[in-house]
Amino acid sequence: MDATVDTQWRKEQRRRAQARANALLEEGVDGVALSYVDNAGVTRVKAVPVARLPHAAAWGVGMSPVFDVFCVDDSITAGRLAGGPAGDLRLHPDLDRLVRLAGQPGWAWAPVDRFTQDGREHPGCQRSFARRAADRAAAAGLDVRMGFEIEWVVGSDTGGGPGADFAAACRGPAYGMTRMVELGDYCRDLLTALAEQSVEVLQLHPEYAAGQFELSAAPLAPVAAADQVLLVRETVRAVSRRHGMEATFAPVVVAGAVGNGQHLHLSLRRDGVNLLADGPGRYGITAVGESFLAGILGALPALTAILAPSVPSHLRLVPSTWAGAYRCWGRENREAALRLVTGSTGETREAANAEVKCLDASANPYLVVGAVLDVGLAALDAGLVLPEEVPGDPAALAPGDLERLGVERLPRSVAEALDHLDASELLTDALGEYLCDAFTAVRRAEAALFADRTPAEVVAATRWRY
Ligand code: GLU
Ligand code: MG
Repeated sequence: MDATVDTQWRKEQRRRAQARANALLEEGVDGVALSYVDNAGVTRVKAVPVARLPHAAAWGVGMSPVFDVFCVDDSITAGRLAGGPAGDLRLHPDLDRLVRLAGQPGWAWAPVDRFTQDGREHPGCQRSFARRAADRAAAAGLDVRMGFEIEWVVGSDTGGGPGADFAAACRGPAYGMTRMVELGDYCRDLLTALAEQSVEVLQLHPEYAAGQFELSAAPLAPVAAADQVLLVRETVRAVSRRHGMEATFAPVVVAGAVGNGQHLHLSLRRDGVNLLADGPGRYGITAVGESFLAGILGALPALTAILAPSVPSHLRLVPSTWAGAYRCWGRENREAALRLVTGSTGETREAANAEVKCLDASANPYLVVGAVLDVGLAALDAGLVLPEEVPGDPAALAPGDLERLGVERLPRSVAEALDHLDASELLTDALGEYLCDAFTAVRRAEAALFADRTPAEVVAATRWRY
């Protein structure tokens, strides 16, 4: 989509949407949910009846720009530029991603771009931010594929006191087949719903925490990968409800327990060459691939503001929980914030990718995709080299070794991470003044909101928000 839409574009949108609406009506669909993720990481939505889809595609659906400064508890803050009751934005569904929802019969869904009333890209549109970065990657001749690992917990509130206020919906052990037997129909319905929506699932398994599951979706182009996160999460939520359970993607569901991550895998190719497998460097990393990864590694303290952006993020991002709390890299090292995945011998050319582990679902996936691309691209031709690899748990290293290897803890609070973001000209420029202002205002307001709360209180207040 161009930055400014014109009459011809609107006509074409209307025509395409009419054809899709006719087909949806025939399939028994009544409503279309149009959603995006805000700066608090909360998915917000407006819906239209199917008959209204053509108008929505041509002219968008109105929504106030004040949502740019909504916080996780629905309180409203203000930035220097963002906030206040005035103005209107138009939510434009991306018809290429319009899909009938298998987990919510009678509904279809599409992600949106947010435009101003005069047909310009809204400077706060997170999806446009991601697309700009993806366009830059394409212009640099890179074929980037991204895939998210989505973790969630099924269970419910018990009404008990702090620390005893949540019960998982299954009892089987971590990675245990018992869990998959207990919830076999649920897992099956999840797989069929996602298949019906053309989401390619790579794997599904019970995770470490009580009631926790994880699903890996196949890699896609960057913006499509972020769209897919929204689709997968809402499908999980809907199928869970149909099975009488609640799903939560919150960074932490029970204070002190292992949390939900939302790791990002990325592969890089240029002219068919896998830049993380087909070169002369360590594990076959090419010089360009190494520089890209070093760019990410170097920027991780600032990236943390976007990747682990909430107060509960920092209850999750702790050592020795596979959350990636240290700035270091390592082959197949699940404690490194940046894990190199080489795949099995014989498959590395197809499989090799890098995994950024220090993120969770309170992050906006479009901001994640755009920011990771931006820092990698800025380093692309800089000839940066990765430091020494860390093969084990950095938490087990002596302070002297950490220093020698240049390994450090990632920021431990929202405020600390935002200070790094503020200092990153690269990221603040890429976000642009308005988006940066709105995003940082929200995250600072959330930090203030929870400043005096205990971890258990923070967890209880955010458990059902993501
Ligand atoms: N649950 C862990 C996290 O919070 C991740 C476990 C894994 O490596 O899949 O990131
Ligand atoms: Mg996992």
